[in-house]
Amino acid sequence: MGAIDSFEDQRRRMVDRQIAARGIKSQAVLDAMRKVRREDFVPLYLGKHAYEDAPLPIEEGQTISQPYIVAYMLEALRLKPDSRVLEVGTGSGYAAAVLGEIARDVFTIERHELLARTAAERLRRSGYRNVHVRHGDGTYGCADAAPFDAIVVAAGGTEVPAALKDQLAIGGRLVIPVGDGAGQQELLRITRESRDRYREEKLCDVRFVPLV
Ligand code: SAH
Repeated sequence: MGAIDSFEDQRRRMVDRQIAARGIKSQAVLDAMRKVRREDFVPLYLGKHAYEDAPLPIEEGQTISQPYIVAYMLEALRLKPDSRVLEVGTGSGYAAAVLGEIARDVFTIERHELLARTAAERLRRSGYRNVHVRHGDGTYGCADAAPFDAIVVAAGGTEVPAALKDQLAIGGRLVIPVGDGAGQQELLRITRESRDRYREEKLCDVRFVPLV
């Protein structure tokens, strides 16, 4: 048994114990997380911690989210194989890769240029040709690729950026942590029911790095 087998074992255990056992039911999310090599998206020296039940530090003082919260957010998006998705906060590129397994097209935007470049390179090497990394401020969304069936924001702000609501397709879902700025947020799901009607649901309490 080489190192690769042991990562595979760890990945299977992670999905069984941290994700499925805690109530994530979406088969698409479970299958995708059984595939994506999380060890390829963390700094090399953290590879042995890749499947821990925790967020991990990445470059620029940012974090790769805990596997469970990635699964929870992606399940909340109710993705279909033909969905077009926007992610704000590429970070390591891990969640973008999971999205790339589930959805047709994924646009992901990151404000730190080094992170955007590193994630783009990792995604390219792993063969995710349907994931497009952009460098910029994700609070403005990605107007030239809109509308999106789903938008997920991986950083916590104090309000829901108007551009993201605008760029939702009718029926589209936006999952976003919103808080008072002190580091604690509520995860919201906002569904665009018609041109100018949105429905808002509170999903749970979360803690994300700040949306800047
Ligand atoms: N989904 C990531 C986790 C990212 S952590 C993963 O799987 O690794 C949140 C990221 O959001 C950080 O990298 C941070 O730099 C980025 N971020 C914060 N505010 C942003 C903004 N306004 N536009 C784009 N990215 C932003």
